[in-house]
Amino acid sequence: MSPAPRTDVADPLVVRRIEFLGGMAAPAGRTAAPTWRPATSLPQVAFAGRSNVGKSSLLNALVRRKAAARVSRTPGRTREINFFEVNGDFVLADLPGYGYARASKTDREAWQPLIEGYLRDTSTLRGLVLLLDVRRDPTADDERMLAFLGDRGLPVLVVVTKIDKLTPRSVEGRVAELTTALGLEPEQVLPFSAKTGVGRDELAAAVVSLVRN
Ligand code: GDP
Repeated sequence: MSPAPRTDVADPLVVRRIEFLGGMAAPAGRTAAPTWRPATSLPQVAFAGRSNVGKSSLLNALVRRKAAARVSRTPGRTREINFFEVNGDFVLADLPGYGYARASKTDREAWQPLIEGYLRDTSTLRGLVLLLDVRRDPTADDERMLAFLGDRGLPVLVVVTKIDKLTPRSVEGRVAELTTALGLEPEQVLPFSAKTGVGRDELAAAVVSLVRN
């Protein structure tokens, strides 16, 4: 008799333990420092993207939990950076979704210093995962984020989400189009679907390699 298949053998990220560390809120004044940051020296990887891009679904798929990122969606936490420690090994930072069409100027002024301050001041930050919806064109906020990361010299991985919404044969062309439009290298761009699981293991491997290096 042949042995049972070992489906877990190739999983680059087996999550044994995930702990919510807390949320960092926008400082009260434009120049004030945030009142809280996680007391951890573990390496961090941040996740950013416009609202509704599929960030919660991606984070849940990444850690293989149904609702790990739900805390980020509870009232009062949607405008915070939420921190999750994985396996006592590294930290995932879930940045607030930006670019709400309806967001007021005040909202924008609140998240920009929060996000940019975090990206600038976190010395243990190893890289950022920027999510783009396969069916939408990158916004000025997406481009601003990429430019900011370029200036800071931080590794960036672009994940193209919801690829199940296109036919398999059109995904490749769309991913190439986005890669060129944003001036990225092909290896920086990863097609993903939380619905089908495509790209989950590649994303897990990329995150692990960022925090190990
Ligand atoms: P967030 O606001 O960025 O956290 O986005 P969510 O994860 O809440 O997803 C926003 C919407 O997109 C929800 O209706 C999800 O069901 C849907 N969604 C997220 N990921 C996928 C995906 O991979 N495929 C499809 N078809 N829908 C998705």
